[in-house]
Amino acid sequence: MSRCTTLEISAKSVVMATGGYAANKEMVKEAFGFEGVNGGLGQNVGEGLKMAWEAGAKVPDNFGGQMLHQTLARATQGLKAQYEPFEASYPLMLTYLPNFMNVGTSGARFRDEAATLTSVAAANTSAFNGPYHMVIVSKSQLNSLQTKGMQGVHAPSLPGMPPEFYAGFADQFTLENPWTNVEKVFDSMVENGDGFKGNTIEELATNAGMDVDVFVENYNSYKEATKTGVDTEFSKATEYLESMGEEGPYYAIIAEINNLGSVGGLLVNTKFQVLNDKRTPVKGLFAVGLESEGVLFNDTYVGNGVAILLYLRSSWRGERGKQCFES
Ligand SMILES: Cc1cc2nc3c(=O)[nH]c(=O)nc-3n(C[C@H](O)[C@H](O)[C@H](O)COP(=O)(O)OP(=O)(O)OC[C@H]3O[C@@H](n4cnc5c(N)ncnc54)[C@H](O)[C@@H]3O)c2cc1C
Repeated sequence: MSRCTTLEISAKSVVMATGGYAANKEMVKEAFGFEGVNGGLGQNVGEGLKMAWEAGAKVPDNFGGQMLHQTLARATQGLKAQYEPFEASYPLMLTYLPNFMNVGTSGARFRDEAATLTSVAAANTSAFNGPYHMVIVSKSQLNSLQTKGMQGVHAPSLPGMPPEFYAGFADQFTLENPWTNVEKVFDSMVENGDGFKGNTIEELATNAGMDVDVFVENYNSYKEATKTGVDTEFSKATEYLESMGEEGPYYAIIAEINNLGSVGGLLVNTKFQVLNDKRTPVKGLFAVGLESEGVLFNDTYVGNGVAILLYLRSSWRGERGKQCFES
């Protein structure tokens, strides 16, 4: 039997450092409309923010921003139980290449896929398509990967994934390395429920829950662009308009966006004092880290590696100057 005890602790000052609310799915959806994956700590559910708001802190005007920074393939984890890391990462790698058609859950194409070359642009252009987007791959493209690796589909560079994503297969992570077993791996992805397959475009749309008419129209328009070299809808560069071939099967990879954390929730001044609706300090209340990051970023994390700055800067001030946490 578990027993909970509530402790009431009196202190001259309180520093809120509870890491935001990215693990609170409902709160993120309500504040930002985002339904992707939480890549941060599961315990960061916004309790500290709610306490601070109850104590009189202002909810900032830009409240809602998230640190969207990476693309994930839902298939990776399941495939890692069945295949070597390189093979298990085939779907993941394709989510980072500009040479493949990307569609939202309705089946409509939504961006110039060259956005995948920059991780923050990739994450933020996908973010409002529902819980995931899909990367469309044809049989002829899989054949090219099987025989010539990523250079077979004219990848301009290696997928721009974080180093930890390919640390387990760094020696195989080249453009030339052939993708052996690729069709088997993609079939496993579908069997695991982490992607879709269809022998025709219509069948793929049905199996993936897309609107068939929407997908067929978008697919035909994209296919036409791969033939003419002119993308009339999103102006993707000709060199990324990789041929889809004429035959199925076709696959759809489920690609999700990884949220590294919520951005902000409390307004702070340069002493990290939390401000109220009048933008004056709430006596004795300070905030650092993600809770205070709304003063550094707005609704988009720019990805320069400065997110941790507010935490470090506040620690430094606390240690060196001792003026930071005085009320
Ligand atoms: C995968 C990943 C990669 C990242 N890469 C970078 C990078 O390259 N560069 C960069 O600048 N930033 C990066 N970030 C962001 C950076 O890590 C964060 O901005 C920073 O760690 C935030 O620090 P924090 O102290 O606010 O929150 P956290 O480090 O999350 O700490 C919050 C703490 O509060 C605790 N807590 C939560 N609720 C309660 C409660 N009710 N009571 C008591 N304790 C509670 C939690 O357990 C946790 O210990 C990355 C984040 C992730 C997830």
